[in-house]
Amino acid sequence: FGRTVSANASRQWISGEAHAAKIIFIAIKLNGVQRGLISEIISQFQCKGFKLVVIKIVVPSKDFPKKHYHDLKERPFFNGLCDFLSSGPIVAMVWEGEGVIKYGRKLIRATDPKKSKPGTIRGYLAIVLIILFPCKNIIHGSDRPETAKDEINLWFKPRELVSYSSNAEKWIYG
Ligand code: ADP
Repeated sequence: FGRTVSANASRQWISGEAHAAKIIFIAIKLNGVQRGLISEIISQFQCKGFKLVVIKIVVPSKDFPKKHYHDLKERPFFNGLCDFLSSGPIVAMVWEGEGVIKYGRKLIRATDPKKSKPGTIRGYLAIVLIILFPCKNIIHGSDRPETAKDEINLWFKPRELVSYSSNAEKWIYG
């Protein structure tokens, strides 16, 4: 029922250029977790034929979000965003599939959820909270193959990166 790729091969696969566009790091932030949206978000990716290959729940240390959002360190909302991210459990995931970054970003949609169309994750699930706290998005997704690789390496230890082949792929890509 699906071949498990060895941890070593998985690590090489994650860091290999050939698969770079086929994996994305997705985080359901603590407000998404607390509101019971984990299964809904997972379902949105699964329904499009993407494969969940790595998942864990983690409460980041105080400094950890600063590493994740290092490119935003000059922005005025940086400290608030980092404090928020380290204040509760986050679901960290790696999803795999053809075009997963391009489509995943389309599915997540605009940084400002008020501008996200219904049917996208932010447009559909981010409601009242976002009006009150604009920096508290419920989901993060890597925007480029290079960022996906960096984020996966930041959030997961090499031994946590294990992949597998899925029998559903013949129906999705066949
Ligand atoms: P995205 O999450 O859409 O990839 P960014 O990486 O630019 O967007 O921003 C990271 C997070 O920082 C966003 O999800 C949002 O929570 C917050 N953020 C971005 N821009 C602003 C802003 N102008 N004001 C407040 N919070 C913001």
